Amino acid sequence: MIKINNIRRNKIELFKRKLLVWGKSNFANFPWREANKPFYSLIVEILLQRTRAEQVVPVYRQFKKIFSSPRSLSNARLKSIEKLIYPLGLKWRAGKLIKLGSEIDKKHRGTIPLSMDDLLSLSGVGPYAAGAFLSLHCGVRSIIPDANMARILGRVFGFSVHAETRRDKNFLLLCDMVTPKRKFSQFNYAVLDHGRKVCLPKNPACISCPLDNICYYYKDKRKKNESVHRISPRYSITNRGN
Ligand code: SF4
Repeated sequence: MIKINNIRRNKIELFKRKLLVWGKSNFANFPWREANKPFYSLIVEILLQRTRAEQVVPVYRQFKKIFSSPRSLSNARLKSIEKLIYPLGLKWRAGKLIKLGSEIDKKHRGTIPLSMDDLLSLSGVGPYAAGAFLSLHCGVRSIIPDANMARILGRVFGFSVHAETRRDKNFLLLCDMVTPKRKFSQFNYAVLDHGRKVCLPKNPACISCPLDNICYYYKDKRKKNESVHRISPRYSITNRGN
């Protein structure tokens, strides 16, 4: 259980600051992190759900070649989208993507809405994809309550993470407390990159982590004299998703 009142303010500030500094020199250059049409930025956040980022790169590039607008996506054949996203698994996303194209085309005249409520009403767009779209691509401050955020916060602040954590109101409040008012997109990128390179689901690389001296999990490991890991040059990729 997350006890917000027990969390020290200065630990939150250190958490923000250390991740921002780390993120600056560890930014991963994925093609969707460049300036882009909002249409592609929203689509990629759906493709990234529960999928390794490296796997998404060729699919994303291909998608951009084939579809130029929500309308062109809405006119696609289900089979062709299924084929396109086949390497990512989660075939159910194909139908949702076509429906999403149609909803944006018809209800929003081809323009991606910028309010959280409107985004959440779209097919296939959950709190993670909406938050990531707003924060990372539109300059609108938003939290990204995804698996990386849950794992890192759980380890640093010492609470257990389970399937319901990402819907827990105290967890969402903590996400809001740690997300800076400014530099929120840099911070959210840092969380994603840190969760992919350092604070891995299995064998986190605590010895290479900028959060080691404020991390509950790491301190506990050391107290018990359990081994901790260094970052691996070929790090694995964690899942993102709602
Ligand atoms: S010290 Fe280890 S467990 Fe804690 S945040 Fe860093 S990598 Fe994760």
